[in-house]
Amino acid sequence: MGGLVSQSFDVATATAWLRRFAERIAAEKEWLTELDSAIGDGDHGINMHRGMSAVDEELRSSGSGDQPADLATLFKRTGMKLVSSVGGASGPLYGTFFLRLAAATGDATSLDGPGLAQAFRAGCDGVMARGKAALGEKTMLDALLPAADAFDAAIGEGGDDLADALKATADAARTGREATIPMLATKGRASYLGDRSIGHLDPGAASSTLLLETLADAVAGSDGS
Ligand code: ADP
Ligand code: MG
Repeated sequence: MGGLVSQSFDVATATAWLRRFAERIAAEKEWLTELDSAIGDGDHGINMHRGMSAVDEELRSSGSGDQPADLATLFKRTGMKLVSSVGGASGPLYGTFFLRLAAATGDATSLDGPGLAQAFRAGCDGVMARGKAALGEKTMLDALLPAADAFDAAIGEGGDDLADALKATADAARTGREATIPMLATKGRASYLGDRSIGHLDPGAASSTLLLETLADAVAGSDGS
């Protein structure tokens, strides 16, 4: 059920999110690579798996004295790990997402719905700035930006359940992901294909949807629902 418990997004929930994301990436690695084989160089699953395994390992190895004290520390470690361990474009892009999340959370140990929505938006802005891409260019932004809009809308409607808002956010990411199929790629490796990029789902939009699905799962799971 909703209520106050599901309102806060704390370090434990954020850690659970990153763990779930690493698990989903591992489970969907072949699918992501297959998608990237159609319009890229077939390494997106490998790239994301390498990066999130490194993040997961770091989370596991941090002993009780080395737990991140706040959200910014957790997200900064995550972002830096992704940047340093992933060779492809997705490393710096996802890395920037988490580093911007860290900058937006400051020394907070927990965020409410509006705070998390704001941080998420900051992360998306970071991806836009880093990749110099916008909505409709057949990239991960086509899942992230509709998700950010849906999150803002759900929060703005005064919904008092963060888990519900994040369910709507993940739905919007899925819809955005599917909308990449008819798009012409104008950024990244897929743009080299020109018209032949049309008719395929963008791999980064697929992995970004997993990012939102696992966020919704982690928050829903944290209050036992
Ligand atoms: P690479 O393209 O270097 O092989 P990946 O295969 O890991 O890297 O990632 C490809 C994904 O990265 C694409 O599907 C797309 O979603 C995303 N991407 C590529 N370039 C950009 C960009 N400029 N802005 C946003 N996302 C991008
Ligand atoms: Mg690739």
